Amino acid sequence: MPFFFCNFAKSIFMLMATDHTFLSTPIEYLRTVGPARATLLQRELEIFTFGDLLEYYPFRYMDRTHFITISQITETNNYIVTKGVITDLHTVGEGRKMRLTAFLRDSTGTIELVWFQGIKWVKETIKPNVEYLVLGRPTMFNGTYNIAHPDLEPVKPEGDTVAQSFIPIYSSTEKLKARGLSTKGISKMMAVLLGEARGNIPETLPQYILDRFGLMTREQAMFNIHFPKNSQLNEQALRRLKFEEVFLMQLEYLYAKTERQQKSKGFIFSHIGTFFNTFYHNNLPFELTGAQKRVVREIYTDMRTGKQMNRLLQGDVGSGKTLVALLCMLIACDNGYQACLMAPTEILATQHFTNISKFLAGTGVTAELLTGSTKPSQKKKIKERLQNGEINILIGTHALIEKDVAFSNLGLVVIDEQHRFGVEQRAKMWAKNTTPPHVLVMTATPIPRTLAMTVYGDLDCSVIDELPPGRKPIQTTHQYDSDRLKVFGFMRRQISAGHQIYVVYPLINESEKMDLKDLMDGYESISRAFPQPQYQISIVHGQMKADAKDYEMERFKKGETQIMVSTTVIEVGVDVPNASVMVIENAERFGLSQLHQLRGRVGRGAEQSYCILMTSNKLTSDGRARIKTMVETTDGFKIAEADLKLRGPGDLQGLQQSGVIDLKLADVVQDENMIRVARDTVNKILAADPQLLADANNCLKRHITKKNSKINWGRIS
Ligand code: ADP
Ligand code: MG
Repeated sequence: MPFFFCNFAKSIFMLMATDHTFLSTPIEYLRTVGPARATLLQRELEIFTFGDLLEYYPFRYMDRTHFITISQITETNNYIVTKGVITDLHTVGEGRKMRLTAFLRDSTGTIELVWFQGIKWVKETIKPNVEYLVLGRPTMFNGTYNIAHPDLEPVKPEGDTVAQSFIPIYSSTEKLKARGLSTKGISKMMAVLLGEARGNIPETLPQYILDRFGLMTREQAMFNIHFPKNSQLNEQALRRLKFEEVFLMQLEYLYAKTERQQKSKGFIFSHIGTFFNTFYHNNLPFELTGAQKRVVREIYTDMRTGKQMNRLLQGDVGSGKTLVALLCMLIACDNGYQACLMAPTEILATQHFTNISKFLAGTGVTAELLTGSTKPSQKKKIKERLQNGEINILIGTHALIEKDVAFSNLGLVVIDEQHRFGVEQRAKMWAKNTTPPHVLVMTATPIPRTLAMTVYGDLDCSVIDELPPGRKPIQTTHQYDSDRLKVFGFMRRQISAGHQIYVVYPLINESEKMDLKDLMDGYESISRAFPQPQYQISIVHGQMKADAKDYEMERFKKGETQIMVSTTVIEVGVDVPNASVMVIENAERFGLSQLHQLRGRVGRGAEQSYCILMTSNKLTSDGRARIKTMVETTDGFKIAEADLKLRGPGDLQGLQQSGVIDLKLADVVQDENMIRVARDTVNKILAADPQLLADANNCLKRHITKKNSKINWGRIS
């Protein structure tokens, strides 16, 4: 599009959009961008507006003033900058194996540079015999160093508008590069944007916050994150923007919570009645732990306020969360409401149903099970009875949130083992009634406090910090595959003492067939070591039909089989108190929370239980650290902290897929303290000014209004 037309369109746009701001201007109106590149930026990087581009931060910087000679290059995990002349640029190999190589030479030596992708583009842009600054990570290959996919920058840039020592490096994609938007192109675009931005980047944090924490303004920060003058300014910019990120996130959570508590109506569960009391006095087979009692009280208090409850129930594996859920559901029923319990797998839903039905015998409460494999005729009946209120408690998998499942008056939703459910599914559940039901989310394993704050920041939290009495801590050992005979011997002794054993294989997802083969091989060798008829073995894996799985689970539960060989389908929640040994094969391949969850399958009875972590002799340092953590502690809260430190939040199961952690700059582990400080500060602000009406909080109010209005001009155009 010709330049003048761009500007014309931009002014039209500004006239039309009344609440238009500089930052909400569609990206295509930025000089040098235009519609074609705009489409590409939207598609590849989700950059729709000037503001989006501004928040597309460099992931690294090249410091022009700090470089080493080629002879000084050593083995390092870090990025280095070096300088030299490119020679001998040529491709090697053909088709998909083609790569591009070049040599970089200075007076002290040469190093090879390699590209496997974007070859065409690199070939066109790199000029031989010109001096370049090169940023990259050297690796040793065949006895010499090379750098794969380095970033290059001419030493003497011609007509560079932002001649400075720090060069931002932006990540880009093949398609963007083909259109001239490599890191360099993006940086030029950013320079254009910043050139127009002065005076147009409004402050998002109150002045008193900037003062108290010594933060630079947003505008200063934007200049210094993209084109920092020096590293101090860059660090200050980063600190300011990170703080803004975690602060505004906490503000959104806590404001929503405050608002919900003030405005939104919830069902009032005013009393405890016959259902609860009959169960509590006649059917409850044991005394509740102090923590269980406290948590039930917390939840009940919440549900009788007239405000909708949104609560997270945390508790270690085996702490008795299911029972807490049941008691709360009974309170719902006592007040004339229905309740439902959603579990992540069919096995688990079925097990909940079986246990709860047993618990409820003689109480007059009707519970039903609805899963993906419920027969259509049966399903139809359940739906009818649900609608006319005959069913009090519905238990199931996500089949419960299908559109056609309608309750007559759903008052409480319990979501078990939340990390398998996405946030969207939670939202769907809420949309089922005009008045939203109370929601209780139970985690499978504890999650660290900061993570809870960033992921479930809008929920209240109850913690069961006590295990039922009489549990002996599980003894955990680490054994190498070469010690298998010893392990088999131990298993035999446990079986002859009347106990049962799980043997679990990892699901690696790479190829289900191969996973299944591992499992079947293991099953065969166990079958040889534990021959029939003396020993009976069950096997359960993901490829089996639901009724076949149930049949095998049932045999194991009844004690007809002594060994259960399975993939991680049993990972979550399965409860067989007589099982006292958990053998985890290829334990190095499991994450910590998964190992902890698996280990929690044993130690449910009064007997001493054992967990044996089998690994190969070769272990990565991370793998070794995980195994060590498991051997050293059985405290789920400690394990969760270790897990977060070892793997980072991105890997935590389910959290990434559901896109719950939406942080660009801050890091849940490294910036833990900042997150706490931000949350405390927001709490204080909202306590004093819940509606954000004070002048000083104007910008915060604006932020919330913007978030809630959902109108985003850039995206609409
Ligand atoms: P989780 O918190 O991991 O979901 P469960 O709810 O499955 O744990 O409970 C684990 C086991 O402990 C179950 O067999 C349950 O019946 C039992 N249990 C729960 N509460 C108590 C208690 N207060 N005293 C004794 N056993 C209990
Ligand atoms: Mg459970």
